[in-house]
Amino acid sequence: MAQIVVLGGGFGGVVAATELRKKLGKEHKVILIDKSREHLFTPSLLWLILDERKPEKIKGDLSVLNKKGIEYLNAEVQKINPGSKAVITSTGEVSYDYLIISLGAGVVRDIIPGYRDGINFYCLKGAEVLRDELKRFEGGKVAVVIASTPFKCPAAPYEAAFLIDAYLAKRGIKDKTDIAIYTPETLPMPVAGPVLGSAVKEMLEKRGISFNPQKKLISMENRELSFEGGEKFKADLIAWVPPHRAPAVVKDSGLTNESGWIPVDGKTMKTQFDGVYAIGDITANKLPSGMMLPKAGVFAHGQAEVVANNIAVEINKAGELREFDGQGSCFLELGHGIAGFASGNFYADPKPVVILKNPGKMWHWGKVAFEKWWLWKWF
Ligand SMILES: Cc1cc2nc3c(=O)[nH]c(=O)nc-3n(C[C@H](O)[C@H](O)[C@H](O)COP(=O)(O)OP(=O)(O)OC[C@H]3O[C@@H](n4cnc5c(N)ncnc54)[C@H](O)[C@@H]3O)c2cc1C
Repeated sequence: MAQIVVLGGGFGGVVAATELRKKLGKEHKVILIDKSREHLFTPSLLWLILDERKPEKIKGDLSVLNKKGIEYLNAEVQKINPGSKAVITSTGEVSYDYLIISLGAGVVRDIIPGYRDGINFYCLKGAEVLRDELKRFEGGKVAVVIASTPFKCPAAPYEAAFLIDAYLAKRGIKDKTDIAIYTPETLPMPVAGPVLGSAVKEMLEKRGISFNPQKKLISMENRELSFEGGEKFKADLIAWVPPHRAPAVVKDSGLTNESGWIPVDGKTMKTQFDGVYAIGDITANKLPSGMMLPKAGVFAHGQAEVVANNIAVEINKAGELREFDGQGSCFLELGHGIAGFASGNFYADPKPVVILKNPGKMWHWGKVAFEKWWLWKWF
């Protein structure tokens, strides 16, 4: 009998555990550990800030996994010990034969002075606060701020700016509003290349949303954004993406490298430790271009399928090993019921080949359909 432990019930963890359960006989045990009781479909947070989604409609209950033969343990992972093949949690020790780490990326807000003056729309609570502020907003300057790189979903802050713009236009106060994006990036979604980045920049300009690149946030006290080099901008409403970090437990367990994330073989998602895999946002996955693979659910999903397949092949001693190929896609919500769609191969050598399809209603409905499918498929 083999015991496979999956850490994290987000995009990567839920897919890995479910696929393993399907591929392995009942004599093998699949355990998923998460400190949260709920899985959040994060892409829908962007609709929630416009009051187009209710929180309960974009969540999955992790205890449902028990009905599928996966043992779900609601506990905090406090230590990972690859030497003794064990995980220490808030409810006790769990040993493993195979370990899949999908603990995602956390945020650290309080390293930025004045962090309480910005709304972190990357979590459910913050997205709800932003929704309420946008309802009350009577005009002024809205800043969408990316504090630092890397951050989850390279498209999300840009989608947020487009959607806020469309929402305020619908409320009839667009002419009383200025929306500005501040980012340390040189272009939107730079890993996807200059053609795509310039196309998104042009779309922002057409909507009157100002794009301010190479701005490294230092503080936002009293809603005054201060950037390295001394530039300052005042805002009435700040929606921000705080600095991201791997959960402390992986650093404290000696699994990270100098990047602060877990280094992996980008094709197998194996770490340097025997039987230990890492997938999704928690990984440092260097591309041939020298940049890192973006942190996005689509990659966590694809990597989870590959790792689940390969562990099952080893245990069952049957089937074919697979490699993660770097394929990824994402919708780019533009508001007014329209979205774009970017897809391509991020492992292409020497640099990713990613194409942005013409925006249209079809892509928006594609994202809605994906949301429904995701929550139906895994919960
Ligand atoms: C607003 C927004 C929009 C997005 N839109 C898209 C999109 O359109 N497309 C896309 O591909 N990606 C999108 N993403 C990114 C996507 O959410 C992440 O890339 C994805 O969730 C990563 O999956 P993961 O399994 O690596 O981590 P996560 O999904 O973050 O899961 C990590 C899990 O680990 C648990 N955990 C963490 N630490 C511990 C601990 N110590 N003990 C126990 N449990 C712990 C957490 O509770 C969580 O459930 C978006 C993100 C945001 C914020």
